[in-house]
Amino acid sequence: MTELKGALIGCGFFAINQMHAWKDVKGAEVVAICDRDPQRLKIVGDQFGIERRYSDAAALFADGGFDFVDIATTVQSHRALVEMAAAHKIPAICQKPFAKTLSDAKAMVKACADAAIPLMVHENFRWQTPIQAVKSMLQSGVIGEPFWGRFSFRSGYDVFSGQPYLAEGERFIIEDLAIHTLDIARFILGDVTTLTARTKRVNPKIKGEDVATIMLDHQNGATSIVDVSYATKLGTEPFPETLIEIDGTLGTIRLSQGYRLEVNSAEGTTVSDASPKLLPWASRPWHNIQESVLAIQQHWTDRLASGGETSTSGADNLKTFALVEAAYDSAAHGRTVDIGVLL
Ligand code: NAD
Repeated sequence: MTELKGALIGCGFFAINQMHAWKDVKGAEVVAICDRDPQRLKIVGDQFGIERRYSDAAALFADGGFDFVDIATTVQSHRALVEMAAAHKIPAICQKPFAKTLSDAKAMVKACADAAIPLMVHENFRWQTPIQAVKSMLQSGVIGEPFWGRFSFRSGYDVFSGQPYLAEGERFIIEDLAIHTLDIARFILGDVTTLTARTKRVNPKIKGEDVATIMLDHQNGATSIVDVSYATKLGTEPFPETLIEIDGTLGTIRLSQGYRLEVNSAEGTTVSDASPKLLPWASRPWHNIQESVLAIQQHWTDRLASGGETSTSGADNLKTFALVEAAYDSAAHGRTVDIGVLL
């Protein structure tokens, strides 16, 4: 198989997972890295044996010699870097949150479409083994037509020690975490027509909201609740598990803590273990997310080689990003937001 060559921009906290995953992906390798922080560049370059190192993305693109770019920086730089990739006609992966605003996100999708290059958002949560298991079970038809769902992520985990910037933004849990949970809701129950949200800030040490409850009306008529919290202290910490409940006309699916998957249907009750694999470079409790990073990067590589659209393409992600914008609008103004108007 021809090895696709990639360049990674942004050698921070999460990029370590992406670099490990690139070592495991079949058909692609990272040949150059870039970070404006010389210390991060050295740490990642030395750890993964990458000789080509850049402190400036413009210099990286000018030198070229790679087939795609993996943008793992924080949101502030995403639009400029995606547009730089489009200008050089280099296919791009961009971390979530895709952009600062929906209009920036639309401009980024357009820039890549005009340049005829693939663009994928690194929206990895739908690639988690337990989430894929729920989707397969629903698609099998065993619970009939889904009419209600709940996608829940409630935790007291200290995310601020690894990602201090999360405490500083005016926006927190919807933009950083519910963005994934909303994407899972779309992945499982389909696109959304209207949204209503309520938010709270419980932790006085942070600027943004750390609790959100969001109600979605899906195009297929189902209603779902996306509820997320980083202010929920439990006996057994579930981080970073997303728990799911789906009610269908013929039965129910329950993904509960510890990756326990229960399906109730006319045939009775089955319980299975939907645990992710613990990859050699992974560590608990992050292994669920780490495995999904490998899955999404393999998906990108396969699609780049075959020419097909990715599951979380830029165009697809606009529909998730619109839910984020709508949730802040709904919570701020106490109204229900029509998603079609935003897209
Ligand atoms: P970080 O601050 O630890 O790392 C970002 C790195 O990018 C830093 O080293 C910084 O110097 C570098 N950088 C920023 N702008 C740059 C530019 N213009 N050119 C070159 N280098 C630049 O952040 P992080 O915690 O690793 O998060 C990165 C992104 O990953 C965020 O958008 C975050 O939301 C996302 N993230 C995703 C997941 C997931 O599961 N998908 C999990 C955690 C974080």
